Amino acid sequence: MRATLHPRLLTGRTGDPGVYVEALHLPETILLDCGDLSALTPRHLLRLGVLAVSHAHMDHWAGFDRLLRLLIGRNKRLPVIGPEGFTQRLFHRLQAYTWNLADRITTDLVFEVTEVTMAAFWPRASLRLHGGFQIEALPPFPATPDGTVLQQGPLRLHAAVLDHGTPCLGFAVEEAMHFNVWRTRLEERRLQTGPWLTALKAAVVEGRPDDYPIPIYARASEAQNAPMLPLGALRDLISVTPGQRLAYLTDFADTPANRTAAVALARGADILFIEAPFAAADAALALDRRHLTTRAAGEIAREAGVRRIEPFHFSPRYLGQEAQLLAEVATAAGRDTLSPI
Ligand SMILES: [Zn+2]
Ligand SMILES: [Zn+2]
Repeated sequence: MRATLHPRLLTGRTGDPGVYVEALHLPETILLDCGDLSALTPRHLLRLGVLAVSHAHMDHWAGFDRLLRLLIGRNKRLPVIGPEGFTQRLFHRLQAYTWNLADRITTDLVFEVTEVTMAAFWPRASLRLHGGFQIEALPPFPATPDGTVLQQGPLRLHAAVLDHGTPCLGFAVEEAMHFNVWRTRLEERRLQTGPWLTALKAAVVEGRPDDYPIPIYARASEAQNAPMLPLGALRDLISVTPGQRLAYLTDFADTPANRTAAVALARGADILFIEAPFAAADAALALDRRHLTTRAAGEIAREAGVRRIEPFHFSPRYLGQEAQLLAEVATAAGRDTLSPI
């Protein structure tokens, strides 16, 4: 399968956590966490389409000023996803600066914040340069059962609340399925292309049975009296390739509730970026700091059935012992899921 998601762990396994996600043919990118951004050029940062921040500990959020400095003077609407209370944090961050001349800047910069919480509705607000970056409430977003928080072209961003002593968000980026219509097979059966192919794709995605009827028509006006064919006779006209999925899970304690939420986000991921700050032998310390051990990270990866695991956020206390930490993750993951970066 052709890789269309190109994630980059920004500062290796020991620096500030952060992953920059590019997708083939998509102009906009996604930034997961906003700590040390020195690995990104201004060009990278200007392509940002979504900023998702797990929580506001400094190592995940200290890089925001660099991004802000670049965006001032440009027309931009940037969706921001964060945990409970994040609008206030962004507001205070922005209010650290004086904006009395903001109305002389012709372009407007708008941050649209969605807070992903445990509540039934997720609070939303916008903060505009031309409004002095005051908080303007937006209608809340009903919480989705699968944690979908936004759609960016063919990409979908999921988030879930994890417990790190403070709410911390885990993320998954999922690409829509790819469809390929076999035109030669259509011609062989003298079937025309048309809007009915959309219904065929939908029936395949929804897992309909072989006897599910599909109306065949070339123009929308013919839909009414269109002849029907069973789905089973049409399946070979299209091929379906599942989209890629990546998960980014950092800063959470090894508790049963966190494991359940983490495994759900990482389920079937092609790449799982997961924190592994503490050695397996230091589980008590890890729990006290509300972080994972290498073993817990590997076990979550195994349970979620991920293809490749990228551990990161190694504690500086293990300087020079990276190989040992990686070996512990690999042992717990139980398969050959680890690759060098
Ligand atoms: Zn951290
Ligand atoms: Zn933290």
